[in-house]
Amino acid sequence: MKEERKTITFTRDILKGQKPFIISGPCSAESPEQVLEVAKALSKMGSISALRAGIWKPRTRPNSFEGVGEIGLKWLVDAGKEVNLPVATEVAKPEHVELALKAGVDILWIGARTTVNPFSVQEIADSLRGVDIPVWVKNPIHLDLELWIGALERFYNSGINQLGAIHRGFAIGNGNKYRNNPLWEIPIELKRLFPDLPIISDPSHIGGKRELIKLLSQRAIDLNMDGLMIEVHPDPDNALSDIRQQITPSELQKVLSQLIYKRDASSNSDFLHLLTDLRTEIDELDEELLHLLKKRLLIVDKIGDFKQENDVTVFQLDRWIEILNSRSGLAKELGISESFVIEVFKSIHQESIRLQSNFKQKKSK
Ligand code: PEP
Ligand code: MN
Repeated sequence: MKEERKTITFTRDILKGQKPFIISGPCSAESPEQVLEVAKALSKMGSISALRAGIWKPRTRPNSFEGVGEIGLKWLVDAGKEVNLPVATEVAKPEHVELALKAGVDILWIGARTTVNPFSVQEIADSLRGVDIPVWVKNPIHLDLELWIGALERFYNSGINQLGAIHRGFAIGNGNKYRNNPLWEIPIELKRLFPDLPIISDPSHIGGKRELIKLLSQRAIDLNMDGLMIEVHPDPDNALSDIRQQITPSELQKVLSQLIYKRDASSNSDFLHLLTDLRTEIDELDEELLHLLKKRLLIVDKIGDFKQENDVTVFQLDRWIEILNSRSGLAKELGISESFVIEVFKSIHQESIRLQSNFKQKKSK
């Protein structure tokens, strides 16, 4: 399987030499005026590569706004022509492809809910045979790198030359912080497997909240992603879909102008790229460590309560010895310094005792 993959060489044609490649526009086309207003604002910025709008919206639950349908294609294409920006939309079945091509859409993308289904992807890929159009493939909703690669391969096998991937995060739960967990290591692995494949990140669908767009965009840039897909709406609070994550065009301009490009791809060594990738992975892991620590401390609290109710002392020597033995044993197995792990757990244990003792004092007052 892996051997077969080596025969695939992606081109960077889809980027048209633009990096970062920024696709922006409303989650959904809602009216000709709304699409045109966004198009005008984006084209003024000068740094936007393509105008997006969802025409058919795959919704998790029925009775949500499911897109304006075919009529919206004209709004999008007309707006693009007026401001001289290529236009992009999501296609989920061959009928969408046919209508989008007929209307003159320049770029297609495959949504996360479509990438999960190889039958749908194959049907769309078949309908594109012989058509020279750029196709961006979003990662599937759930964590499955093979399925993402498989979808890219299906388009590649259909003769689509201008291919790219959109990283929009994974619905695997991550507290309440993100709508979709970014799991940056997945696009990094995709990049490792296919170094030439253009990958852009979609902070709107990862974060699901306006406040997170800037941070997630910066992280994507730090990871040397090739661009961003960001949803904008003239009046986000009244958007018909994805209200919480859409920002206004002027907010987008602010985000883009504040992004820090730590290095210029042409003058930086592989070493610097790798270093940034690894540091971002460390940041993510540290975040996970802290969340785990918080979880552990909450259980310590519960145990404190339990000990108090049962009139048991906070410090239990045999339990402490068991913790030290088992953790240092595992450290040895994993090849981590035992003394280092013992120091870490001494510190955690001390904090646990402190919390339980405070708790005891509070309760007995
Ligand atoms: C979208 O881009 O509006 C969209 C529906 O995204 P996703 O497929 O990533 O959920
Ligand atoms: Mn959306």
